[in-house]
Amino acid sequence: MATATSGTAAVEVRALVKRFQRVNKGGEVIPVNNVSLDVAEGEMVVLLGPSGCGKTTLLRCVAGLEKPESGSITIGGKEVYNSDRGVFLPPEKRPISMIFQSYALWPHMLVEQNIAYPLECQGLSKAEIKERVGAVVAMVGLEGLERQYPGQLSGGQQQRVALARSVVADAKVVLFDEPLSNVDAKVRASLRIGLAQMQDKLKFSALYVTHDQIEAMELADRIAVINNGVIEQLGGAHEIYERPHNLYVANFIGSTNSLKARVVGREGPDLIVLETPIGTAHVQERNFTPDALRGHERDTEAMFVSRPERWRIVADDEVGGVNCWRGIIETTLYAGSHTEYVVRIADETVLVWSASGEIRVAGDSVWLSVLPSSAFVLLPSSGVAA
Ligand code: ADP
Ligand code: MG
Repeated sequence: MATATSGTAAVEVRALVKRFQRVNKGGEVIPVNNVSLDVAEGEMVVLLGPSGCGKTTLLRCVAGLEKPESGSITIGGKEVYNSDRGVFLPPEKRPISMIFQSYALWPHMLVEQNIAYPLECQGLSKAEIKERVGAVVAMVGLEGLERQYPGQLSGGQQQRVALARSVVADAKVVLFDEPLSNVDAKVRASLRIGLAQMQDKLKFSALYVTHDQIEAMELADRIAVINNGVIEQLGGAHEIYERPHNLYVANFIGSTNSLKARVVGREGPDLIVLETPIGTAHVQERNFTPDALRGHERDTEAMFVSRPERWRIVADDEVGGVNCWRGIIETTLYAGSHTEYVVRIADETVLVWSASGEIRVAGDSVWLSVLPSSAFVLLPSSGVAA
């Protein structure tokens, strides 16, 4: 689970454990369960997972707002928490800045005063404050609104003020807890771009919490997919999407078609043959996860997994070869950029997303295929959410 990165780490979390006692039922939750994680200098690591999986708790442990049970946390080379050595620095002694879902702006202060506040706490000169505030105001696109009160701004504009305030003090590490989840989709998309540009310019390191997979994929240098206090997989967006280690990750970060399968043999230099409820399927050997590969001898119970957008509706004169099945369209959802089909093959249904302009309708009989290089094989039990 621990993954080290090369170079200096801005944040190092080692074997961190945080438990809570539930008040009423008295049970115990372990929202951070032996987590190890590095954020490299200038890197943005996104903590991604469903509500309640422990993202906020991990972030609050790094910020010093929660005291963990055991493990250690180092920020910018400075140990801020170590259970063995009894080290625990309070939040204000940690070189971080934090931004939350709620904007937490001071309503009685002008936009420029809100943004300047962290600098005033640091005791910078008036001239320097003016210059730094001016620079971040331009960066987040708030020019002309400096002398408004937060209540006079839209939600998106208020969040820009909060973003500006979180980066103005030049903190080495910025912690984000779902900062964009309160603004509407269009504004969110533009703030995502603004945030990526700001990080490019200011080069801060960041831990960014979200439950939104698109946000995670667009912003992250690396994504940590979290399930019940445990990191299921840590890697770049492409790696997580194309090579999920288990079904939990595959299902969380995109849509999947998962069919029960049994390994029945090999074909050619690199194809594994599977029996599935829709018939024989072929998958390239390199698309087996290490776990599934270890046991890919005959009769291994596995899952044949594929992404809906990797399926194709094949023209009649292209029919043939491996992984080609006949199906009946059950549902058509036209989404503009693509069309989403639910297609019945034998007793199963698969999702097929087609970018083709030709729209099929319910009842149409079609040939479908997915390349052996575009499907993968996971073990059925691996990492399925409890
Ligand atoms: P996320 O941010 O991923 O939605 P949280 O870190 O907020 O998840 O919560 C993880 C789990 O810890 C949840 O089950 C939540 O109920 C529990 N939890 C969080 N804070 C406390 C607390 N102060 N006391 C008891 N349980 C808590
Ligand atoms: Mg949370």
